[in-house]
Amino acid sequence: MRVSISPLRIVLIYALFATLWILFSDHVVEYFVDNVALVTAMQTYKGLFFVVVTSLLLYGLIKAKILQIVSMQKKLKEHKQRLEYVIQGANLGYWDWDYVNHKHVVNDIWLSFLGLKRNDIDELDTDWTERIHPEDRLIAKNAVENTIKHNLPYVIEFRMRHRDGHWVWIEGSGAVVERDEKTGDPLRLAGTHRDISSRKNAQKEMLFLALNDPLTKLPNRVYLKQELEKRLIEEPTLCFLFLDLDRFKTINDMYGHTTGDKVIQVVAERLKSSLQESDFIARVGGDEFVILTREHLHVEALCNRLIQSLEIPIEIGNEQFRLNASMGVTCSPKDGSSFETLFKNADTAMYEAKNSLQKSYVYYTPSMTEQLLNISKLDNELKHAIENDEFVVYYQPQINLHTNRMIGLEALVRWQHPVEGIIPPNNFIGRAEETRLIISLGLLVFKKSLMQMKKWDEQAFFDGVMAINISSVQIEEENFVESIEVIRQEIGINAQRIELEVTESCFMNNPDQVSKTLQKLENLGYKISIDDFGTGYSSLSYLKQLPLHKLKIDRSFIRDLPHDTDDQAISKAIIALGKTLELEVLAEGVETEEQKAFLIENRCDSMQGYLFAKPLSAEVLEATFRQN
Ligand code: C2E
Ligand code: MG
Ligand code: MG
Repeated sequence: MRVSISPLRIVLIYALFATLWILFSDHVVEYFVDNVALVTAMQTYKGLFFVVVTSLLLYGLIKAKILQIVSMQKKLKEHKQRLEYVIQGANLGYWDWDYVNHKHVVNDIWLSFLGLKRNDIDELDTDWTERIHPEDRLIAKNAVENTIKHNLPYVIEFRMRHRDGHWVWIEGSGAVVERDEKTGDPLRLAGTHRDISSRKNAQKEMLFLALNDPLTKLPNRVYLKQELEKRLIEEPTLCFLFLDLDRFKTINDMYGHTTGDKVIQVVAERLKSSLQESDFIARVGGDEFVILTREHLHVEALCNRLIQSLEIPIEIGNEQFRLNASMGVTCSPKDGSSFETLFKNADTAMYEAKNSLQKSYVYYTPSMTEQLLNISKLDNELKHAIENDEFVVYYQPQINLHTNRMIGLEALVRWQHPVEGIIPPNNFIGRAEETRLIISLGLLVFKKSLMQMKKWDEQAFFDGVMAINISSVQIEEENFVESIEVIRQEIGINAQRIELEVTESCFMNNPDQVSKTLQKLENLGYKISIDDFGTGYSSLSYLKQLPLHKLKIDRSFIRDLPHDTDDQAISKAIIALGKTLELEVLAEGVETEEQKAFLIENRCDSMQGYLFAKPLSAEVLEATFRQN
């Protein structure tokens, strides 16, 4: 048990001892000593004894007191240090406010948040509220007032001005730590500050990213939707422009995404600078932008300005890019009053503009949606037709122009529609490519053609080459070679008897990969020919590197032979090119003897066309040939 020694206690003990001494010491001496002379001498010793004993007593008591104070001071120091560590570790600034004398005490961390040094401030009299952001002053004032009134600590967030002028976000807490015992008035308040600028900035950044596109800094789709809905509430009439860059994918594919990104940034700047103050622009996809405008009467002018803004080539490094855009325009309330409808209809109109050769922008009309519905109906039907095996393959003979003998057949697919009868491939191949259904349809045609070859082999009817059309979508498929090889090996047809017809467009998107695929096919023994040659624009140097066997001159160059001089020149040039590259040349769509004579004269190798035979079903072909 500890007994605390107070100064009062020391004095009381001393007083008690002295009083007892005064009252009783003489009696004690007299009791023991009878001799008066001796008593007198004893008085002196008694006094000395008193001085010694009280001195020892006081020494003991005061020493005990001092030891107690020293020990308390040590503990206090330890506590203070511990507190200091905690405050520094938590990077907390603290303040202590003498409310009566308006004196503030703060620590160095507190000062460091505002870029201040200790000698920058006058601790005695500084109005810190003057450093608080004007918008946040009321928050701070209310917090302090409430704390004083209700005696509850506060935590608030506010901004304070840094020495160099910028605003620092602070999380401040505080409480009344001392009150006047009688009146209850606050005497001291204290609390902490924490610099939360990085958290606040991250929050701001996240909010920005949620509503804006990081590349162009333009609003994104979410922001667009909010803005559109807000504008529609203010006023229901508004125009919605959907803009999509033409063939932007090629830039990405050929020059890489970094260049593509830079182009998009320039495009965004250019489009933005064509707008009026009240217009709104958002980036809603890779190369897609939406513009909102209230200027219905000037939409056409705006569309023209947007198109014009892209006319000057965009320069990135040493490259120059010329861009076009297609736009679809919808206006509310006429074409819809919801974000989804306006977006969908503008997209539909944009699609129309893409397909139009003359127009860069197209206004939406309901008939476009109808067309789209028809397309999606066709897509659905096509899917079912593949599942239900509604396709048949016709065969068109290919003839050697010099021997007049049939050297091969081209397999041409037809859709035997249960209601509409035979549908030609031009009516559905495009959609099948768009929907990628061509991958399974192509395999179906490949399989049917090879099975027919097998059958004719067994009947010793046909032992030539079968030409099969392959779409670029198929060629770009990763496992194309494997998928046809499985079928070929299963049916058991020599690859040398199969010619794959590809078009020049195959080399546009992914030339390196396609060239590798063709090389693989060539190694397996397949023949490769270029169909509709002359209609695409393939690079001639590229042609030289590809493992090709044949060029098929497109029908359009044969049709007006031998009278049209341009077609004469073109077909002669293609034949010459074929000879130079050591490729066989076949003319498509030969319908007249005159055309045939021209081709023979110009040393074309083979032909295909109505002059000899139309594409025929296997049965008709068999019957015709057995007759002759
Ligand atoms: P293509 O490969 O250029 O096929 C030749 C087209 O020309 C065939 O049309 C054929 O009927 C037609 N033709 C042949 N000789 C003459 C002629 O003397 N005069 C005229 N006016 N036309 C002639 P078809 O069968 O309608 O095929 C059209 C296109 O459809 C084909 O053009 C080919 O690109 C595509 N196609 C056909 N079957 C398939 C297939 O199984 N897969 C793929 N991917 N495409 C196919
Ligand atoms: Mg063909
Ligand atoms: Mg062709």
